[in-house]
Amino acid sequence: MQRFSALALARNALSGQTGWQRQWRSPDPAKRYNAIIIGGGGHGLATAFHLARDHGMRNIAVLEKSWIGGGNTGRNTTIIRSNYLFNASSSLYDHAVKLWENLSQTLNYNVMFSQRGVLMLAHNVHDEQVFKRHVHANRLNGVDNEWLTAAQAKAFCPPLRIDAGMRYPVLGAALQRRAGVARHDAVAWGYARAADALGVDIVENCAATSIVRDRQGAVEAVETTRGRIATAKIGVVAAGNTSVIMGMAGLRMPLESFPLQALVSEPVKPVLPCIVMSNTIHAYISQSDKGELVIGAGTDAYISYSQRGALHVSTHTLEAICELFPQFRRMRMLRNWGGIVDVTPDRSPIIAKTSVPGLYVNCGWGTGGFKATPGSGHLFAWTMAKDEPHPINAPFTLERFRDGFLIDEAAAAAVSH
Ligand SMILES: Cc1cc2nc3c(=O)[nH]c(=O)nc-3n(C[C@H](O)[C@H](O)[C@H](O)COP(=O)(O)OP(=O)(O)OC[C@H]3O[C@@H](n4cnc5c(N)ncnc54)[C@H](O)[C@@H]3O)c2cc1C
Repeated sequence: MQRFSALALARNALSGQTGWQRQWRSPDPAKRYNAIIIGGGGHGLATAFHLARDHGMRNIAVLEKSWIGGGNTGRNTTIIRSNYLFNASSSLYDHAVKLWENLSQTLNYNVMFSQRGVLMLAHNVHDEQVFKRHVHANRLNGVDNEWLTAAQAKAFCPPLRIDAGMRYPVLGAALQRRAGVARHDAVAWGYARAADALGVDIVENCAATSIVRDRQGAVEAVETTRGRIATAKIGVVAAGNTSVIMGMAGLRMPLESFPLQALVSEPVKPVLPCIVMSNTIHAYISQSDKGELVIGAGTDAYISYSQRGALHVSTHTLEAICELFPQFRRMRMLRNWGGIVDVTPDRSPIIAKTSVPGLYVNCGWGTGGFKATPGSGHLFAWTMAKDEPHPINAPFTLERFRDGFLIDEAAAAAVSH
């Protein structure tokens, strides 16, 4: 792999930028692999990278039905934080934040991780109590989080409106300073490039259409739009399409798939220094390095596989944003889009073995899995390579929905982006 460095930049600047290589190969699928990952989003590519780098596994393929990063990885609002309530969740998400902190160096690819802090606004006494509980629980778990008064929140984020005339006044906010954003495409591309350099075949335009099992019920092959591929290990990392793929192996998943929307404004000069989230009025916003305001809306109220959502959901969000930031009222929205998110009953992910030998699943990240990408890849690769979970993902089983050991982040917060 050609390494990026100041010297390489200078050399290519002098040679008219003609010396750069392709970032990853585009191989035809082989007849057999030691492991196959279905889904070329950030989580799938990170899993392949860790399988190759940490576990020395070779002859691995990532199958992607369209282009890598074209699913939720390239559609999300990139909020990264780890201020979740329960011990299992904060340890899972903080594991990821720690990996984000060095990800550009690990991959030798600038993922533009920017730890600008997330403010989670409290608009009523219930919010205040819930967020203070989060602050205390996080601190006990060694995760940074602090309580700010409304005036302190405004000092941290000057454009925020806090006057008492608001329909939902800001009473205070929880601030996680290590939270941030990253460039989503760069995450997919960086992992693809690093995995490719370790020999992983990234096969785009190759949809899995069937999972073939042998007489004992173990995984034997994947049928794809580019032919049958034999393998004894399959990791399914397909976000909103997980239920469909797991159904190919005869497994019914505790998942519902909804469209979730986001939108961006025209670009403006730097105006918003941090991420602001409001669960109560359902709005979240940050500013990209290009200058666009990146705004997240809610899920549609019904299940669907369409990668767009209803207009009233995004208009509701814009009303909430304008209430918090009246100065943004005159800005134009440039684009809106949707992605299909896979939601579990407790809003926590599943990173686990399944009852089918050789079949593993990483799903249920719902509206908030981008932040977990590096940690998820690391833990899922461990689970696939060793055929047992890492201690951090051990609680995130499929069986918890049968046995009742839920990690109920849905009850802990209205929104989990
Ligand atoms: C609008 C929106 C905003 C969001 N905001 C945030 C946020 O601010 N912070 C956060 O942490 N998370 C956020 N999320 C959630 C986050 O995007 C996802 O949890 C995360 O990106 C999932 O990553 P992934 O790699 O598992 O999925 P994906 O990137 O969706 O990758 C799955 C891949 O599987 C492929 N695939 C599907 N079926 C097949 C098949 N049969 N064969 C081969 N390939 C297949 C798909 O094409 C897709 O590329 C948001 C999501 C959306 C939609």
